[in-house]
Amino acid sequence: MRIAVLTSGGDSAGMNPAVRAVVKAGITKGCEVYVIREGYEGLVRGNTAPPRPHRKVHRNLPAERLAHFGDDSLLKNLSFGDGPALREGAGDAEEDEQESGTLKGRHIVRVGWDDVRGWMGEGGTFIGSARSAAFRTPEGRLAAAHNLIKEGIDGLVVCGGDGSLTGADRLRAEWPDLVKQLLSSNQITQDQATTYAHLKISGLVGSIDNDMALTDMTIGAPTALHRICEAIDNINSTAASHSRAFVVEVMGRHCGWLALMAGVSAGADYVFIPEQPPKSQPWEEEMCEVIRRHREVGKRKTIVIVAEGAHDRDLNPIKADKVKDVLTEVLKLDTRVTTLGHTQRGGRPVAMDRILPTLQGIDAVNALLEATPDQPSYMIGIHENKILRIPLVDAVKQTQAVAAAIEARDFATAMSLRDPEFEQ
Ligand code: ADP
Repeated sequence: MRIAVLTSGGDSAGMNPAVRAVVKAGITKGCEVYVIREGYEGLVRGNTAPPRPHRKVHRNLPAERLAHFGDDSLLKNLSFGDGPALREGAGDAEEDEQESGTLKGRHIVRVGWDDVRGWMGEGGTFIGSARSAAFRTPEGRLAAAHNLIKEGIDGLVVCGGDGSLTGADRLRAEWPDLVKQLLSSNQITQDQATTYAHLKISGLVGSIDNDMALTDMTIGAPTALHRICEAIDNINSTAASHSRAFVVEVMGRHCGWLALMAGVSAGADYVFIPEQPPKSQPWEEEMCEVIRRHREVGKRKTIVIVAEGAHDRDLNPIKADKVKDVLTEVLKLDTRVTTLGHTQRGGRPVAMDRILPTLQGIDAVNALLEATPDQPSYMIGIHENKILRIPLVDAVKQTQAVAAAIEARDFATAMSLRDPEFEQ
């Protein structure tokens, strides 16, 4: 079997270990493994140039190690000087030409065992991630299907957030029709149409937000949470020294998991999350009452965490600056705002973001190898410490149901969809 792996949507720590696991598990099981650069954008663009015979080899790599790699090898083409950017023919100015952040010519590249060596502890995604408008169009998905068939790939692992997995599910659902279209326009042969009648897909959830339904944890969330905790620990010392209040805005889109868990880990005074807005409307007095009480029992510092998607019961956004104004004006606290921004995304994956993608990456490959045409595509999740396969379509549907419940101001449903054991 020929399998390919891509990373898509917002990057997260743990994507590199996920790609590493898929590559190594695939090779172990006898597959030919490819990586697709720049997410779906690379899949739509495909390979428009033949594999280039390799001309330049990085000085630091001993010749005996390079002997293991094919001409199309990633490692042969890594540009170590600039960090681990993947560049075919790195060092040749004319070959380094880029187009909207992606390399022209080749996006689907065969990889070997050693190509992913050392990727376990590296943040972000070396094979690149992108948001692809083209893949949202029928023409883009037709081009993507054509490129997969041209390269002889019949199994795809997608590591990304709910958007990317929605896209994967769409590609799978449309696949028979796409094959028909390619056949009727003579872009593929009848033999190819028969051989590639089914595309097998496995989804890995790479998202710092931990916002995917039906799985306990997403790849990247533990690292992001760790970064937030470190930042709040740093803030704590200055807050306590000056008896200040800090309002910390954290990521998470429509999901409050990062904010809530950071609140628990850092001993925050108050947390705003999208799924469970403050009970009273307006919310200001409810928050001030809690913080006033904490101050009265001798607390010298105040930490309020605001999820980026936080809002009140009427869905009016609650922003960090507004919270700061309330703390300053009502409680007369010397208050500062810290927006953690992209520091939450980056950096080395914590241990959990190495273990989880490794176990899930292996199962993603097993799921492709075991897939039958009548089975759904699976998202590889984790529940109560067990790696599980969940029909991709169910996970995507339930994730969308949470957003819809919030939109409808049905916060009880939003919380119970996130956590069935949650009691209001
Ligand atoms: P994430 O995967 O982190 O949630 P996005 O929502 O931006 O990030 O999705 C990443 C990419 O997945 C998009 O740029 C697009 O190419 C693809 N995608 C998302 N939703 C769909 C969809 N409904 N149909 C087809 N492709 C989609």
